[in-house]
Amino acid sequence: MIKENIAKVQENIKNACIKSGRDVSEVTLIAVSKTKPIEAIYEAMACGMKDFGENKVQEMCDKIETINEPLNWHLIGHLQTNKVKYIIGRTCLIHSVDSLHLAEKIQDEAAKKNVHADILVQVNVANETTKFGLSTDETIDMIEQIAKLPNVHIQGLMTIAPFVDDPEDNRQIFREMKQLSVDIKGKNIDNVDMNILSMGMTGDYEVAIEEGATMVRVGTGIFGERNYNR
Ligand SMILES: *Cc1c(COP(=O)(O)O)cnc(C)c1O
Repeated sequence: MIKENIAKVQENIKNACIKSGRDVSEVTLIAVSKTKPIEAIYEAMACGMKDFGENKVQEMCDKIETINEPLNWHLIGHLQTNKVKYIIGRTCLIHSVDSLHLAEKIQDEAAKKNVHADILVQVNVANETTKFGLSTDETIDMIEQIAKLPNVHIQGLMTIAPFVDDPEDNRQIFREMKQLSVDIKGKNIDNVDMNILSMGMTGDYEVAIEEGATMVRVGTGIFGERNYNR
């Protein structure tokens, strides 16, 4: 089933790229494997998947140790400062940086290990009070601060759009995210790149791609529904 799902998602990504005049190589599919067993990840790996997303540090570290293959592990969930030390040097990209305090902690740990940490700044353009992430107004200030941290490298922006029945309802949010990333790129801030726009999940990744996403995070669409009561 995972194999068929991946083929279907890849086909949809291709079609969204064709529709919007983009090259399919511009879009990275991240298989969001949170709550799913190791066997499911092996199945996805057998289909050529190399990018996996997890939202809990402990679960991600356990999976990294068990699988022990050169995969790209993306931390997509809220990150507590006391857990930063476990993931620096192991995750390829932290998608969820939403405070200077967290970025400073990442700086400390990256400096200790003498590595660079690639991060995305999480923006909440929808301004939903229940979700993490910065408002568009706060984002540019924050980026200018984080840019000064020598071992932290901002690669772009991430957002979690609201859960909606009709993905068209999120199109405007994705469009605003793209515009924000273009605006920030135009500022030419040292140590800041805007190459990555991480947006779009199972319900809305095609619309996200049409509006400029370079990374889509798909869980349910690949691995099926999650069961949180295991
Ligand atoms: C769980 C999760 C996803 C994947 O959600 P699906 O709707 O299952 O595709 C994507 N991004 C983040 C941040 C998540 O926590």
